[in-house]
Amino acid sequence: MKKECLEIVKGKCNDCHACALGNTRNNIVFSDGNPETAKIVLIGEAPGETEDMTGTPFVGRAGKLLTEFLAGTGISREEDVFIINTVKCRPPENRVPTDEEKSACRKFLEAQIDIIKPRAIVLCGATALKSFIELDKKQTISKVRGQWMNISVDGKEYKAMTIFHPSYLLRNHSMEEGSPRRLMQEDLQNIKNEVLSDVNHDFIDFSSDNIFAKDKQLSFV
Ligand code: SF4
Repeated sequence: MKKECLEIVKGKCNDCHACALGNTRNNIVFSDGNPETAKIVLIGEAPGETEDMTGTPFVGRAGKLLTEFLAGTGISREEDVFIINTVKCRPPENRVPTDEEKSACRKFLEAQIDIIKPRAIVLCGATALKSFIELDKKQTISKVRGQWMNISVDGKEYKAMTIFHPSYLLRNHSMEEGSPRRLMQEDLQNIKNEVLSDVNHDFIDFSSDNIFAKDKQLSFV
C-alpha cells in the first residue's frame, strides 16, 4: 500500500520542474529502501553525480560508507531505512541546495514522510538539519548531533536525531574515541537501540575495526 502511494508521488516528481534543478537533472532521485518495512526515514542533502546518473540516493563513495556504518551497527539499509534527500534533483556542481529549491521540493519530502510514518527521522548532515531546525551560531552540527529532539513535519511530530554526513567521514579516518567516525557509530547504535529494539535481522558482523579496514581497502580518501 505504501509502495503504491509512493509511486503516485514519484510520478508527480518525475514531471516536476518547480525549481531550476529540474532543468539540469538526468534523473530524479526519489528514494531507496523498503517502504513497507522501514522504521527510519534518513534524510540527506541532495543527489550527487552518481545519484543523478543512477536515480538512487547515497550510492557514491559517501553512500557506500554510510551503508557500511549502518551494516556495522546492525541496521539494514534495505529493510530498516527509507533514504531520501531534501531535494530530488542534483544541484549543479554538487552545490548546497538553496532555500528556494528546498522549499519547492518540500511537498515531496513531506508526502514521503507522511506515507512512511517512521518511528524516527535521521537528519544526515547540516543541510537536512537546517531544513527542520533553525540553528543559532553556537549550534554547530558537532554540538547538535547525537541528541534526540522532536521535529514537526506538516503539523505532525516526529522523534529525530542528527548524525554526521558520511562525506565528512571520508575526510576523517580515525576511529579513536571521540572521533567523528566513532561518534557516528555511537549515534547509529543509539538509533538502533531506540527505534529497532524489537526488530531482528541476521547480519554480517562488521566490527568497527572491520569498517575502517574495509574502507581503507576501498581507497577512500
Ligand atoms: Fe521539482 Fe524538487 Fe526537482 Fe525542484 S528539485 S524540480 S522541486 S523535484
